Formats: sequence, structure tokens, C-alpha cells
Amino acid sequence: MTEYMNPSPELRARVALEKYGFHNTHSLGQNFLLDAGLLGRLLELSGVCDTDNVLEIGPGAGVMTAMLSERCRRVLAVEVDRGLEPVLTDVLAGRENARVVFCDVMKADVAALTAEAFGGEPWRVVANLPYYITADILLRLATARRQPESVAVMVQREAAERVMSHPGQKQWCALAVTVQSYGTPRVLADVPPDAFDPPPHVQSQFIIIEKHPEPVVTPRDPQIYLRLINAAFAMRRKTLANNLKAAFGLDNDAARAVLSAAGVDARVRGEALTLQELCRVADGVVACRE
Ligand code: SAM
Repeated sequence: MTEYMNPSPELRARVALEKYGFHNTHSLGQNFLLDAGLLGRLLELSGVCDTDNVLEIGPGAGVMTAMLSERCRRVLAVEVDRGLEPVLTDVLAGRENARVVFCDVMKADVAALTAEAFGGEPWRVVANLPYYITADILLRLATARRQPESVAVMVQREAAERVMSHPGQKQWCALAVTVQSYGTPRVLADVPPDAFDPPPHVQSQFIIIEKHPEPVVTPRDPQIYLRLINAAFAMRRKTLANNLKAAFGLDNDAARAVLSAAGVDARVRGEALTLQELCRVADGVVACRE
């Protein structure tokens, strides 16, 4: 009876999806999590609490959004699919602290949106990400003008392995360096395909990346550091010296001098370097352009 009078977010979402005849779009990564029991456990693991402002990327049918609004101070959800508007309106009805903005998160000014929604206060990200843009979203958040305090997201297991990788491993890549320059990633839970509606053809992991309390690298020029990271992994078979020459127009001597000043072997490949070594090389590039 209580459920009938005051339906749960899960029931509201299931009814609204049916009522509006919503069909999931595969190309938008629409594998929904509707099970409130599972979502409750994931939110518990994310550690978000009633003082937190949360950005959700891709609210879908809004079950997680509604549960976040119960648990957190304010929720801003960014959804690209306008077809979900009637569903989200029903599911989030009466939730004054939850707001949905319809736009492509990759084109949005996330710093401006969050500053406006959260009055300049710190914020966190919680999301069941659309997998086709996982790396792009994580790169944007990790390099944002105003960075979130933490990012707790559902991702494909392979993406989690890349984010969590270490120098010298085959997964070590520009995404791992950029994300780990921002924060420390760890796995919170394995989530099987049948937890989703419809089930994806991949295994998933719910991970959290917590912003470093103090920066672990402080490049002299963050843009050059990002360019260096991309250059280091652009052509993995080439030595870092060759990638440096190509990316920054350095001659052989200058590239070797930069690496030597950074304490890095001239024959090394970018994929073997730590964050700190990459940062020293980037600072060397800056010095050599002064
Ligand atoms: N949070 C919901 C859930 O757990 O059921 C939905 C998650 S579903 C994996 C991903 C969501 O991201 C979908 O609602 C999809 O429409 C949305 N989405 C896909 N691409 C997007 C983009 N570029 N910007 C914003 N939202 C996007």
C-alpha cells in the first residue's frame, strides 16, 4: 500500500519508461541500472553524503539521480537524450535539490555548470557512464579548470584496468597518466552484465578516483605536460626522444639534452616513465623553449 501511495524511484522509473514507450539507444550507451538495492550499495561505496554536491553524467531514467537527491545536498544531472525528459520529469517530481540539464557533456562547460548549480562549492561526480566516451569524460574531469573532489563511476572493466595501470605495464597510457596526475583510482565493485537493462556485452567495474589532497606533480606548464603525455604514448614503438622531436620540433641534441636533464635514458620509451619523470621532461621542454 505504501509503495502504491509513494512509489520508489525504481518503480516510478519502470512505470514511466513503459508509459512513454521509451526505447534504449545502443549508440548512446543506454544500459540502465534500475535496481535500487544495487544502486544503494554503489552509492554507499561512493561515500557521498548529505553535505555533498554531485554531478551525475547521464541520468537515464533517473533512479540513481533520485537516490542521490535523497542522500546528497544537491544533484545536477547532464543528459544528452531529450527523449528521456518526460521520464525524468515523472521520476524526479518534487525533488527540489535535483536538476537536469539536457546537453552533450562533451560540449558542455562543466566548470560553469557546476559553479552555477553548486554556488562555487566543491562537488563530486557519481555516474553510470556511457561507455563509448568513458576516456574522454575522465580526461575532461581530470584536467578541468575546477576539478571534482572525487569521481565514482561505472566503467567497462578494460577501462578500469587502464586507469589503474602502472609504468611498464602494457595498459599504461595517456589516460592512466592524466587520471593519476589528478587522483588515486581504486575499484569499489565488480558489476555483472545482468545488473543492467539491457545487459552490455562487457564486464563492468564501479571505480572511484579521489583527488590528491596535494598535487603529486606540479608541471611548470600544465598544457605542455598534457602535450608531452600524449606525445609519449602517441607512437609507442618510438623512443621518447623521437616522440619529443616530432611533438615539439626539437632537434636531436635538444631532445637528448631535455631527457638527460630530466635524468631519463635517451633510448627510453614513454610508456616506461612515471608521472614524475614525465613531468621533469615536460619542464625540460618548457626550459628549452624559453
Ligand atoms: N544513470 C542511468 C542509469 O544508471 O540507469 C543511465 C546510465 S547509461 C549507462 C548512460 C547515460 O548517459 C544514458 O542516459 C545516455 O543517454 C547518457 N549519455 C550518453 N552520451 C551522453 C553525452 N554525450 N552527454 C550526456 N549524457 C550522455
